[in-house]
Amino acid sequence: MVKFLTSATRPEHYPATGLPEIAFYGKSNTGKSTLINQVVRRKDLVKTGSRPGMTQLINFFQVEEDYVLADLPGYGYAKVPEAIRKGFKPMIDEYFLTRETLKLVLLLLDVRRTPGDSEREIVAMLASRHIKTALVITKADKVSGNELVKQVKLIAAAFGLPAGDFVVTSSLAKKGISELHTLIRSSI
Ligand code: GDP
Repeated sequence: MVKFLTSATRPEHYPATGLPEIAFYGKSNTGKSTLINQVVRRKDLVKTGSRPGMTQLINFFQVEEDYVLADLPGYGYAKVPEAIRKGFKPMIDEYFLTRETLKLVLLLLDVRRTPGDSEREIVAMLASRHIKTALVITKADKVSGNELVKQVKLIAAAFGLPAGDFVVTSSLAKKGISELHTLIRSSI
């Protein structure tokens, strides 16, 4: 069973289950909500495609008695008012800095987008804090086979990493979901 625990902006409001935690993070519209629903096998646990970038809270869910799933607000949505956008970074930074139960961050990357400084900064920040990070390419069904290989290489090159370091997924085609399950199981 999957259940919503709470929404929070500050550490004192994070849930205190003591369970290991897995965080999902990515630019707005990267397919995060859809992927979370796939991973926990629930159609509508997290609302998809709605008011992108406006979620200002970290949403916590408990998956079985196994782990807590943290849905971090998507970053980089242009239409978010400046004041809200400014509030995001400290909140996310504080989460990564203080969340002792955090075992793995899934950083989601849209297959059609070449990652830039924001993504490189996030990866460097997580590495500097010794937080295990999985780089997850989303919406793989949006491109054809050849294009997919090319895009994965491009994305990998943007990080200076080998293509094999990336988990390629598609919520629509249910691709890569079992790999994510394996990754989560081995991290909790
Ligand atoms: P979020 O803002 O990162 O939570 O993104 P959403 O999960 O709301 O998805 C944004 C848009 O991309 C929606 O229109 C989804 O239907 C679409 N989408 C999400 N995942 C996939 C996928 O695997 N394949 C395709 N083709 N579209 C997807």
